[in-house]
Amino acid sequence: MQMSIAMNENELLKKIEEVFPFVEMPSGNELVFHDSNCICCNHLRKELEVSKKITGDVIRSIHQDLYHLSAKSWNWILPYYIRYCLTAEAKHNQMETAFLIYNFSPALEFQADTLKKLSMLNNTQIMCLIYFLEWCLTFPHWKEFYIEDIKDAINFLRTMPKRN
Ligand SMILES: [Zn+2]
Repeated sequence: MQMSIAMNENELLKKIEEVFPFVEMPSGNELVFHDSNCICCNHLRKELEVSKKITGDVIRSIHQDLYHLSAKSWNWILPYYIRYCLTAEAKHNQMETAFLIYNFSPALEFQADTLKKLSMLNNTQIMCLIYFLEWCLTFPHWKEFYIEDIKDAINFLRTMPKRN
């Protein structure tokens, strides 16, 4: 796979500010991907409705449930989540970033659902996620333990259908 030279943190942050503006929170069932039979979705919806604002605490609390977020929620949460991943807190915890990476490197049977969930992101946002993943690889921890997941994620994002 062809890898470009990764952005440094300031360049990445600038790009994130440019392409990931904050958007309005979706409401009710628009927050989650599955119907009301999904226990995880119900739990996640309630938690997001109570929290309203996406802080580091909220991200830490929901990072294992990203799979249940709707396309609208991905569009709403990612601007917070991706900025959070650049903080000292996230660099220390690591798991929130790891789970984000997992969500961008789905197994074959989950790829169609993942495409639906990422369907509200535009091309520059997808590119920015790739820049983010390339930036992760500049850290020994991510390069050593997550290189395959990150490569899969970059490949998955690169092959996503193009949009505006
Ligand atoms: Zn669900």
